[in-house]
Amino acid sequence: ERKWARAMEIVKEMEEKCATPIAKLKQVADAMVVEMHAGLASEGGSKLKMLITFVDNLPTGNEEGVFYALDLGGTNFRVLRVHLGGKEGRLVNQEFTEVAIPPNLMVATSDELFDYIAAELGKFVSQESLEFELPPGRLRELGFTFSFPVLQTSIASGTLVRWTKGFNIEDTVGQDVVAKLSSAMKRRGIDMRVSALVNDTVGTLAGGQYFHSDVVAAVILGTGSNAAYVERAQAIPKWHGPLPKSGEMVINMEWGNFRSSHLPITEYDTAMDTESLNPGDQIYEKLISGMYLGEILRRVLLKMAEEAAFFGDNVPPKLRIPFVLRTPDMSAMHHDGSSDLRVVGDKLKDILEIHNTSLKTRKVIIQLCGIVAARGARLAAAGILGILKKMGRDTVKDGAQRTVIAMDGGLYEHYSEYSKCLEDTIQELVGEEVSKTIVIVHANDGSGIGAALLAASHSQYE
Ligand code: ADP
Ligand code: MG
Repeated sequence: ERKWARAMEIVKEMEEKCATPIAKLKQVADAMVVEMHAGLASEGGSKLKMLITFVDNLPTGNEEGVFYALDLGGTNFRVLRVHLGGKEGRLVNQEFTEVAIPPNLMVATSDELFDYIAAELGKFVSQESLEFELPPGRLRELGFTFSFPVLQTSIASGTLVRWTKGFNIEDTVGQDVVAKLSSAMKRRGIDMRVSALVNDTVGTLAGGQYFHSDVVAAVILGTGSNAAYVERAQAIPKWHGPLPKSGEMVINMEWGNFRSSHLPITEYDTAMDTESLNPGDQIYEKLISGMYLGEILRRVLLKMAEEAAFFGDNVPPKLRIPFVLRTPDMSAMHHDGSSDLRVVGDKLKDILEIHNTSLKTRKVIIQLCGIVAARGARLAAAGILGILKKMGRDTVKDGAQRTVIAMDGGLYEHYSEYSKCLEDTIQELVGEEVSKTIVIVHANDGSGIGAALLAASHSQYE
């Protein structure tokens, strides 16, 4: 039982290192605000790129016609057809297909990736009924949701800053991703034109606003994490173009790359970062998003197996495989409500080939899930507080003010312990009075609809 004590020591240490008391979260939020200012002041002024999106008008609701959207995220990509019916008809219809991105394409060449995407797009279009046929000479228009940092040069062009999540294709970096997609479509003879290039956060903001007019920010918690919000154009010193009529500009924060000495970082995080495809980058994302939570848990369990024989005398070989423990499995264990923690037992058996675990062991695993998830959720809440502060919405100014934040992503959608903790922490951070003015909505697949809406409002035919 010396070994058990040693295992508990590791858990306790993890808990202490991951602690996120309110005072710390407020420091994180303040650091986020500082970086937001710096990123808006000059290109390269901060780890936060604070990218100008060229979206200075969100959808009005008058958009009409059939538009397409293509959403390239971290794990899946989706093709959508959205039929917009204007003020009266609203969203008439939407259809989509979703395909997993073959992992080998994430590290292949640009042409291979974009050819694959174009082929799927071509399949989708070739299967559609005659009612969607366009008048001769008119091209189908597409909103391209591309969830990676892009330095936009217009609403429909932009160069890739760097890949994130599991992608690493060197020859795309610095290239215009719309040109890449367009030439792949051309090679396949697909008659489509990209009329808007949007980040998924911006799509979610646009899609969210279509249904809730008070949406001013969007946060994605999926494979990765990012946020966008509506900024005053006057407050963007690095913007030298003409001031938009609306006086506003949507900013894609690329908050995944945020880092601060206030972030609680453990030895497991440091090792995971060092061994990642993008060491030193996306530090905040690596603490809060779905790609990484399960992997952090795996690393703690591995240490417990190695140093405290937590799973018996031998270290289970599967436990040594990076990313073998996925966040959906972690969340299934965390949500296990059975008295004998059967789900935990089954996951350990099926994924890690660890048999016959005791109830005591399973309970410790749930405790660790809680530590890793709560740190992520609470840090994400701190980021949201940063945005509220930057927008001056962290205090009550007039009674009527309502701040709606559109949230989306598989982590937020499916990991309810995480999303509940996130929402509770926002309340805790802003206090009771302000918390009544803040509404969080789940913008389910808002980014696809949002991209189609932006394609519509930037159509070359209107
Ligand atoms: P993407 O971020 O790739 O565009 P999604 O928004 O659908 O795609 O998010 C997918 C991610 O959400 C997965 O990589 C995973 O980390 C997380 N996720 C999916 N299902 C669950 C689940 N049941 N519990 C926890 N996390 C989940
Ligand atoms: Mg996505």
